[in-house]
Amino acid sequence: MTYSLPELSYDYSALEPHISARIMELHHSKHHQAYVTGANAALEAMAEARATENFVNIPRLQKDLAFHLGGHVNHSIFWKNLSPDGGSAEGELLAAISEHFGSYDAFQKHFNAAAMSIQGSGWAYLAWDSMGNRLVIGQLYDQQGNLAMGMIPLLMLDMWEHAFYLDYVNVKADYVKAFWNIVNWQDVSKRFDSVKANSASLLLG
Ligand code: MN
Repeated sequence: MTYSLPELSYDYSALEPHISARIMELHHSKHHQAYVTGANAALEAMAEARATENFVNIPRLQKDLAFHLGGHVNHSIFWKNLSPDGGSAEGELLAAISEHFGSYDAFQKHFNAAAMSIQGSGWAYLAWDSMGNRLVIGQLYDQQGNLAMGMIPLLMLDMWEHAFYLDYVNVKADYVKAFWNIVNWQDVSKRFDSVKANSASLLLG
């Protein structure tokens, strides 16, 4: 098995009342686990295809790997992006947010709009664009669609219904609002510092 479910650094109940323990337990132990299992199954089937030189299922397996590995990556980041005491955006990260989006307030409104307007299932994200050496906000469809290669995710918000429906039913705006209370800005800053230091070589060698 290549991929495995990461342990959370906090209890399932730690993010209450913003996200309930019930959602966290299902989301982590069932949904995230399913993506890990799916990604491993796709890799195993690809190895089998190579061993038998039977590549008839490759198109489906490539889609399966992209979807399930996407789910594994996204959730692994999402859990670390959350914390009951994550502080606020500051320092170089705050300066970069202001530089690339005009102000923190403009960034937050843009991010909220991206989250609220996803058609179907997906994610809103703040990423480092390794080609332009800048921060960008994006909408990720399902687990893997609608983005260019080279986006390094810094902050992700799961907008699949499984992420909020038990707590917020159809009132997505309250879920998005609650999210800002539990963003782990120390984690986002750490990701930003790391990607910025290595950005020049990430795409262009
Ligand atoms: Mn999810």
